[in-house]
Amino acid sequence: MAHLILVPTPIGNLEDMTLRAVRVLKEADLILAEDTRTSGFLLKHFGISTQMKSHHKFNEHQSVAYLVQQILEEKKTIAMISDAGTPGISDPGFLLVRECVKAGIQVECLPGAVALIPAIVVSGFPSDQFVFEGFLPVKKGRQTRMKALVDEKRTIVFYESPHRIGKTCEQLMEFLGPDREACIARELSKKFEEIIHGSLTELALRCKTKPLKGEIVLVVKGKD
Ligand code: SAM
Repeated sequence: MAHLILVPTPIGNLEDMTLRAVRVLKEADLILAEDTRTSGFLLKHFGISTQMKSHHKFNEHQSVAYLVQQILEEKKTIAMISDAGTPGISDPGFLLVRECVKAGIQVECLPGAVALIPAIVVSGFPSDQFVFEGFLPVKKGRQTRMKALVDEKRTIVFYESPHRIGKTCEQLMEFLGPDREACIARELSKKFEEIIHGSLTELALRCKTKPLKGEIVLVVKGKD
């Protein structure tokens, strides 16, 4: 039956592509990709020649209705990938999934690569309950979001860019306290993977003395 399938792709290490992801992408009628150039290399590597169409945050609002129609009326099975990891997690996906669910279309998401889960696990903080904050707003609403976390007891997970991570640790110190334990998981699954444990103060200092590079997940322990 025609449906929508979200397919995770590696967050750095090509060996994390699952056998099922490769088969599903080969069998789909169409692959929606955030960046067709980036995904082109991945698909070529795995011998996938399915037609690709670009689907990103700047065109998803316009194309959702057309894609729903392609599945419902043209009986197409559409697979969706993002540049890395699981689509819909700080990546396009949500809008199309919501419209497919509304239209009664079956939606599947394959299990696979995602940055937040390995980061939580290696942090050593409780993983039975956590909140995923994704990217904090860069300007408006940033302080409000941090303030809302003051009494949060669950482990808190952020996605952050390397040039903002130091500032974020400093700002979090103001709301959560300088001694709050945290962990930076950098370049997960890649050659220069690095896990840095310490208080928010220590992590902020570390970012100042030796600026961090690459992709970063920041995990902060909840309030005791
Ligand atoms: N959809 C992706 C997922 O499933 O995790 C996330 C996409 S989001 C646009 C990109 C952010 O995810 C990065 O800025 C970083 O915070 C995090 N990220 C992605 N790959 C990572 C990696 N290999 N190591 C650490 N963080 C990573």
